[in-house]
Amino acid sequence: MTINKTIKKTIIRQNEHSIARDDISKNALKVLYRLKDAGYQAYLVGGGVRDLLLGKKPKDFDVATDAHPDEIKALFRNCRLIGRRFRLAHILFGRDVIEVATFRGPHEGGTSPHAGKNEEGRIIRDNVYGSLEEDAIRRDFTVNALYYNIRDDSIVDFTGGMQDLHNKVLRMIGDVSTRYREDPVRMLRAVRFAAKLDFTIEPEAHQLIFELKELLDGIPVARLFDETVKLFQGGYGLNCFRLLRRYQLFELLFPLTEALIKETGEQNSATLKLVEQALINTDERIAQGKSVNPAFFMAVLLWYPMQDYKNRFIERGQHEVEALISASREVITRQQAHTSIPKRFSMMMRDIWHMQSQLQHPTKKRALRTLTNKRFRAGYDFLLLRESVGEHELKAICDWWTDIQTRSPEEQEQMCSELGGPKRRRGADKSRRRKKRKAVKLTVEPVSSQPGNTQA
Ligand code: ATP
Ligand code: MG
Repeated sequence: MTINKTIKKTIIRQNEHSIARDDISKNALKVLYRLKDAGYQAYLVGGGVRDLLLGKKPKDFDVATDAHPDEIKALFRNCRLIGRRFRLAHILFGRDVIEVATFRGPHEGGTSPHAGKNEEGRIIRDNVYGSLEEDAIRRDFTVNALYYNIRDDSIVDFTGGMQDLHNKVLRMIGDVSTRYREDPVRMLRAVRFAAKLDFTIEPEAHQLIFELKELLDGIPVARLFDETVKLFQGGYGLNCFRLLRRYQLFELLFPLTEALIKETGEQNSATLKLVEQALINTDERIAQGKSVNPAFFMAVLLWYPMQDYKNRFIERGQHEVEALISASREVITRQQAHTSIPKRFSMMMRDIWHMQSQLQHPTKKRALRTLTNKRFRAGYDFLLLRESVGEHELKAICDWWTDIQTRSPEEQEQMCSELGGPKRRRGADKSRRRKKRKAVKLTVEPVSSQPGNTQA
């Protein structure tokens, strides 16, 4: 790999940096000690070192070593080898996973069957091992390539990461264009780290995002879904969202949502309000150590696009419930061409959407069932969110649901018995609708011919 600076190894001694062993998780230390005691090199690297130096709590701890995957496996009973593109070892401590990667070397110029790029320069195989120094220059940003050495508690810096950390700059290691082409997801990572750390993206890396962003189209949708979750559910979702939009990356990930924001203009966009408020709530929940579910936020992102399709289906003669089902399927299918949505999440999104009308119009018969539905909490939170960003006509019904949750079972039954029954559609009305539906059915575009219609 070409690197635009001469590599200079700098060692920052224990008393010259702020990381203490106590800051590192017990499990990460166990892994580091065991590797070291077996005679291997062992370093903490990546976000763990970066975040500790910034006084933040790391999300996870990654370890780099000269031990090969099989050698790592031989050392740890609780080890799983994973990955094809990158072969990695996961050391499992219950739910805590320490990722251990063998130092990687350069993949260019060689004929090794273990490494390779496609015609666009994207890395498709990456299993050539190398030295510590080679491993450093393969990483994405200088601040992510700082190595904490368990042998003497020093930090090794080959790329000027300490200086960039001090200046709050995100700088790509090596030639920016080559590195974005090798892995276009680095553009999303740049935005995520800039948003999370409040760093500026160095000018060339900043500018090239606008020029190369379409390369993200070539990335598998499952990987884009994973990145999306990291962007929006990493505790800095609102910053990430705003920055993604500034870089015109959001429209590549969620074109239906962005199109609606553009249509009404930011000032009047109900979509924008809903999404931003959901992100404010998500960031707050994460700060309080509460759980968040990707399905809820995906349901938020696609709520208005779904409404839009629902209205179109109604115009084409479908009745309310049928249109809701068709629109949910349509929007989820279209989104899956851009980011996958695992089935368990798409099912929950539909449940949240479909529950909205039951929550808005509770009936004597159904209200108690709605209350005990396993998705009630998500559906109710969604209703409150909608009310809070402008659907103020939902206030009374939100209060009713808030109230009923605090009541005894007898009181709950009493409250439900005071509700009305479902509105009955008259026979004549029904047959008129049926006729209309029949007439327009022929004009509805066949959904199955749309791109990305794989599963819903
Ligand atoms: P966080 O865990 O807080 O999201 P991180 O920097 O630890 O941030 P990870 O995805 O855990 O990010 O990756 C660990 C390290 O692996 C990174 O710091 C970086 O050095 C390297 N890395 C990860 N993804 C890439 C990539 N796409 N290209 C180059 N290096 C990468
Ligand atoms: Mg990490």
